[in-house]
Amino acid sequence: MKSSFHLDRQNEDIDSRIVAGLERISEVFRVLLWNESKEFSLSPIQIQILIFLDTHSKDKCKISYLAAEFNMTKPTISDAVKSLEEKSLIKRKTDPSDSRSHYIELTGKGKKVVEKSAMFTAELEKPIHLLKDDDKVTLLLNLISIIHHLTEAGVITIQRMCMTCVYYKKDDSRNIHFCKLLNKRLKNTELRIDCPEHSMRNKILT
Ligand code: SF4
Repeated sequence: MKSSFHLDRQNEDIDSRIVAGLERISEVFRVLLWNESKEFSLSPIQIQILIFLDTHSKDKCKISYLAAEFNMTKPTISDAVKSLEEKSLIKRKTDPSDSRSHYIELTGKGKKVVEKSAMFTAELEKPIHLLKDDDKVTLLLNLISIIHHLTEAGVITIQRMCMTCVYYKKDDSRNIHFCKLLNKRLKNTELRIDCPEHSMRNKILT
């Protein structure tokens, strides 16, 4: 069977064109991040780490979690963190609940870089804003379904979306989503992709 990138197959098969489209979108992230990183003399992963630290709780701001989040090895993340530390953009703090453990937080200088760099997706948001509401819901549900499949297949290790959460329940017969933690029904538009209260159904990190 020819790959999704083979043009003969793409012209005959919509699935292959969707895969090729997703590949183009992943390239957009790479290009936008690269442009941003050049401006601040940082690598793309360093920018991603800074943005992640700004938007997630302390328990996730640790080397092992960052390595799993970005599908990289701990030494690679450690090198990136060391470089950010040398540039005074982050600092390491002792975890009050475990003196042998450290988490990472942004310095004031790091926060200023995040303020400027976190908008790197602005160009991508423009065509999404133009979609009809129904089309946005369809796109969101399909993206969740694809991400869920990739998580179940072990391609992505860390997810914080409803479908992988211990608090999530679905009534398939009525197509109703429910969050046991918030104790409320979730509309399709409320399904989360990165939830601060998420707890992984099968814990990967110890
Ligand atoms: S805690 Fe968050 S991720 Fe889990 S089901 Fe509720 S809303 Fe979804």
